[in-house]
Amino acid sequence: MKVVRYDTQAVLSGLPDDPYGAVGLPIYATAAFSFSSLEEGARRFATGEGYTYSRLQNPTNRALEERLAALEGAEDAVVFASGQAATLASFIALLQAGDEIIAATGLFGQTTGLFNQILGLMGIKVHYVPAERDAMAAVLSDRTRAIFVETLSNPDLSIPDFEGIAALAEAHGIAFIVDNTFGAVGALAQPLSLGAHVVVESLTKWASGHGSVLGGAVLVRKTDLWQRYTLYTTPDEEGKSLWSTFGPQAYMSRVRQLGLSLMGMVLSPFHAYLIFQGLETLPLRVERASRTTLELATFLQGHPKVWKVRCPALPEDPSHQRAKRYLRGFGTLLTLEVKEGLEGAARLLEKCRLLQAPNVGDVRTLVVHPWTTTHSRLSEAARLKAGVTPGLIRISVGLEDPEDLKAWLDESLA
Ligand SMILES: *Cc1c(COP(=O)(O)O)cnc(C)c1O
Repeated sequence: MKVVRYDTQAVLSGLPDDPYGAVGLPIYATAAFSFSSLEEGARRFATGEGYTYSRLQNPTNRALEERLAALEGAEDAVVFASGQAATLASFIALLQAGDEIIAATGLFGQTTGLFNQILGLMGIKVHYVPAERDAMAAVLSDRTRAIFVETLSNPDLSIPDFEGIAALAEAHGIAFIVDNTFGAVGALAQPLSLGAHVVVESLTKWASGHGSVLGGAVLVRKTDLWQRYTLYTTPDEEGKSLWSTFGPQAYMSRVRQLGLSLMGMVLSPFHAYLIFQGLETLPLRVERASRTTLELATFLQGHPKVWKVRCPALPEDPSHQRAKRYLRGFGTLLTLEVKEGLEGAARLLEKCRLLQAPNVGDVRTLVVHPWTTTHSRLSEAARLKAGVTPGLIRISVGLEDPEDLKAWLDESLA
């Protein structure tokens, strides 16, 4: 059976052969795997084929990796304990002390923290510039090893110049890495088809979909890029390099080796199971929540207490044109700014029947006040630069009946 279309992949891809014909995904709750002989053990260790120990690989996690690869249009995937772990692994596998990376401004806060504080330990310099080709080209040097952007930045909902940046990365032989968390595992965006070499994502959000577990993934498309990195081509004492041993798979084998085998940032198979199951309803959830998002944005736009609404689905939104070009829809996020600033936001949330929580992509609609929560550690100037104002409220739209959501928002605004 050759499965091709997205919704079909969401429910059928990745399921392993099972001796009992299980229709769902079995959870392999085991740390180690036994060998039938010395030769068998030696072979598995030498080739990396078959299973040895769950820090390296587990059949439940492998099923999730195959499903994620199918949904992102990727060649391969490796799953991690969280989105943070995945981002770290994607860079650790690429960088050497003294290298530089170029990153978009307005990234997810902990990603900036990871770059500055963890990669900083390796002497990596990060240039933060807008996600536009010319701005990135201006800071590019012969030490640049990667360009990093997010599909849809949060909360200012801007979309990068995918084509321009991909062309720049290709011309200079450097990795274009995209955090596709807001691309909802391909339901909204597939950066690998837009020229990205690597995708990292948090599975905690739309993939799991139920706000119940954390997870992350690194995904890669087919590419020979890695032979442009001296890290991959420098021979060891035996004359072998990562490129000569692993070829195009060199990058992902290093992601797995460093991120899982050595750093141990491994996803529990119980959580892999929940995420695998969550993916089965992903297309339905994104479709329904996207429709509700547009309905709410339109409703709020006409509301006398609301000063400004941002939602890529609105034709006049600054992100609308790029969303039409690069996304398969407009997403399930919107922001609104109330007229009375911080005080207005506080009063709205005090009376709000919607859940207040710092998460997105949940089946439940979640509201958050970025100024005092997710972005509170930034200076006021940095918050304003990231589009975070005192009156701004972010809404991640869930699966409730849109009429209830409108009624509750109207009640709070009143
Ligand atoms: C949540 C998030 C992360 C981090 O993922 P965790 O699973 O929470 O570690 C990274 N990037 C973006 C855009 C996110 O929203």
